[in-house]
Amino acid sequence: MTSTIAVLGTGTMGGPMARNLAAAGFTVRAWNRTRDKVEALASDGIRIAGSPATAAAGADVLITMLFDVAAVREVAHEALPALPAGALWLQMSTVGVAGTRELAALARAHDVAFVDAPVLGTRAPAVNGTLVVVASGDPAVRERCAPVFDVVGSRTLWVDGGAGASGLKLVVNSWVAALIEGIAEAVALAEASGLDAALFLEAIKGGPTDTPYAQIKGSAMLARDFTTSFSLAGALKDTGLILELAEEVGVEMAVTSAVRRHMALAVEMGHGDEDMGATYYAHAPNR
Ligand code: NAP
Repeated sequence: MTSTIAVLGTGTMGGPMARNLAAAGFTVRAWNRTRDKVEALASDGIRIAGSPATAAAGADVLITMLFDVAAVREVAHEALPALPAGALWLQMSTVGVAGTRELAALARAHDVAFVDAPVLGTRAPAVNGTLVVVASGDPAVRERCAPVFDVVGSRTLWVDGGAGASGLKLVVNSWVAALIEGIAEAVALAEASGLDAALFLEAIKGGPTDTPYAQIKGSAMLARDFTTSFSLAGALKDTGLILELAEEVGVEMAVTSAVRRHMALAVEMGHGDEDMGATYYAHAPNR
């Protein structure tokens, strides 16, 4: 039975996930590279750890929710040796398929059970505990994962074979990347054409090509409100992971390649910490 969980990384996603786990009755120890961002969790009954190793010592479960594979690698090297025998590592950051292979090997070297468990959903579902967890791992440890996944998410999808959970996560993110780019292009084209861009959202409303995502992200673009749910820098990182997998399996991804170029441009323009919807600026740089 899981009682103590170490959460490494308390950013947009890891912070609310740690809060929900503590509220559900787990003993939670949290660590974050920037101490300020983790201190606020103390008032939720979460113990703040001074290092990844301190957080991991004595924990039944380790959760990593960090930016990328480099961050996870660095932190795991400190945390894994401190875990007790039989501990479980739930790697929930988006690190791609090759990154997951590398981290799984690291887990094996430390004799730690590893579950590849990226999540679908963004800041609000993380706060509400309604993420979708896509997971791959030894069937023997799945039962132990359930109490944790059931707190952070509303659904868990176990993925067997192929590129695994991290592969499915990238498939979904390729779809999200296409959507956000399509919305940005349509809004920019409407504005540059002298149209009221709100009419684009009004025109598709309720029809077969409408999506809640178009209404939410399109309205945010119209309002130039890029409050971060998922950072543009993070979305750019994910397009790289998608293209890495596509190259490995031999699929040409023309759309994701174009999205990556535009996201990189918007990051260069200084919008990397804003929401991924800020890719809009790559289409309408003078607005
Ligand atoms: P975030 O708010 O940017 O937080 C990133 C975390 O990684 C922070 O704790 C940050 O520490 C830490 N970090 C970055 N580089 C580090 C390093 N070299 N060493 C140690 N710690 C490092 O990101 P997020 O939105 O929570 O995303 C976390 C992960 O979940 C990412 O892999 C992302 O792709 C994935 N994800 C995000 C969303 C979303 O909508 N936000 C949805 C699904 C999946 P500092 O505070 O010190 O910078």
